[in-house]
Amino acid sequence: MQYCLQCGHKAEVKIPATDNMPRLVCPSCGYIHYENPKIICGALVVFEDKVLLCRRAIEPQYGLWTIPAGFMENGETIAEGAARECFEEADAVAINPSLYCIYDIPDIGQIYIIYLADLKDGAFGIGSESLDSALFSEDDIPWDTIAFEAVKRTLTCYFEDRKKFSTLNEFPVHQDMIGKDQSIKRY
Ligand SMILES: [Zn+2]
Repeated sequence: MQYCLQCGHKAEVKIPATDNMPRLVCPSCGYIHYENPKIICGALVVFEDKVLLCRRAIEPQYGLWTIPAGFMENGETIAEGAARECFEEADAVAINPSLYCIYDIPDIGQIYIIYLADLKDGAFGIGSESLDSALFSEDDIPWDTIAFEAVKRTLTCYFEDRKKFSTLNEFPVHQDMIGKDQSIKRY
């Protein structure tokens, strides 16, 4: 049972008169509870030939490795959100951010926007949302214990691009869709 956020009355699912999608609507005050995709901002932070990963101290995917990423907050830009996540999860200062990967995940209503960034001074720690954090070279990436498909995909793109291009400026922006079965569709 879901209740109206505005007046507390029992809400019901219906298509509002001015709409074409089912919404949670309050029959008492008329409030429509719109649910739209959420943006997850993050950064692949690089120092020398290594990338920064954090081991999650929170659900979902507790104990698995990820790049710093999380839900964007109101009042911040995407790049600011990505930098904030780096600080929260790894006490790391991400500099020189450039847009790198965008993933649509329509089945769960999420959009990932990932920046490529440099790790300032190579310095990092373990943030409150992490059990551990570390710099990994390509050979050491713990592929079997990476938390999310979007993170796996970002890491794969990065190591492929590094072989194809000599400077970061040449790296393309990757835009993919991640399907229900975790399949990747390239746009
Ligand atoms: Zn209401």
